[in-house]
Amino acid sequence: MHILVVEDEPTLCAQLVQAIAAAGHTVESASDGAQAQYLGEVEDFDAVVLDLGLPVFDGLSVLRHWRAAGRKMPVLILTARGAWHEKVAGMDAGADDYLAKPFHMEELLARLRALLRRLGEHASAQWQCGPIWLDTRQARVLVDGHPLTLTSHEFKLLSLLMQRKGQVLSRTELSEHLYPHDSDRDSNTIEVFVGRLRKKLPPGSIETVRGLGYRLAETHAAA
Ligand code: CA
Repeated sequence: MHILVVEDEPTLCAQLVQAIAAAGHTVESASDGAQAQYLGEVEDFDAVVLDLGLPVFDGLSVLRHWRAAGRKMPVLILTARGAWHEKVAGMDAGADDYLAKPFHMEELLARLRALLRRLGEHASAQWQCGPIWLDTRQARVLVDGHPLTLTSHEFKLLSLLMQRKGQVLSRTELSEHLYPHDSDRDSNTIEVFVGRLRKKLPPGSIETVRGLGYRLAETHAAA
């Protein structure tokens, strides 16, 4: 999943990014309200962890702005301890959950999982791209209606490409998604997995964007 962390305190921000990435997500961060507002508007996030006390625009303004602009991603706000009025204002502004500082990282991760689970219940767990059809819940892939056998790494890779079809994904993003717990990642292994996946898919399904990464083509000829 693609998560945005908005926190102006550098140490806490780094801890959040590290913990959420280690839980298997692709994480971006912002350290002030203006940057957060922009990212939340131009990029698609599956969830946001939003501190309320921020420079430039405060978190509540950012959240109100997103909601007014029709951005519906789940938002978990970080509030000051005991500040019940912040929680109320946050929920009124469209937050989905809140956590008071200081918190245990495990609790934050559990809340985030719950938000993403709720999202998954509403969102479709099936993606279609040309002749390729993928069901995340059943871990099943069909090409032109015929089942395709993939290894778990190939399946994860294809899921990410399908979820973000038409977008370029860098080798780093892909390897962070495939090996969230491995600090010693080797992007060459991504090339190997992409190569294997390519052989199993209809020709032209995965495009190489020179110097940037890979993209699942929106339309292509069936095999
Ligand atoms: Ca703050």
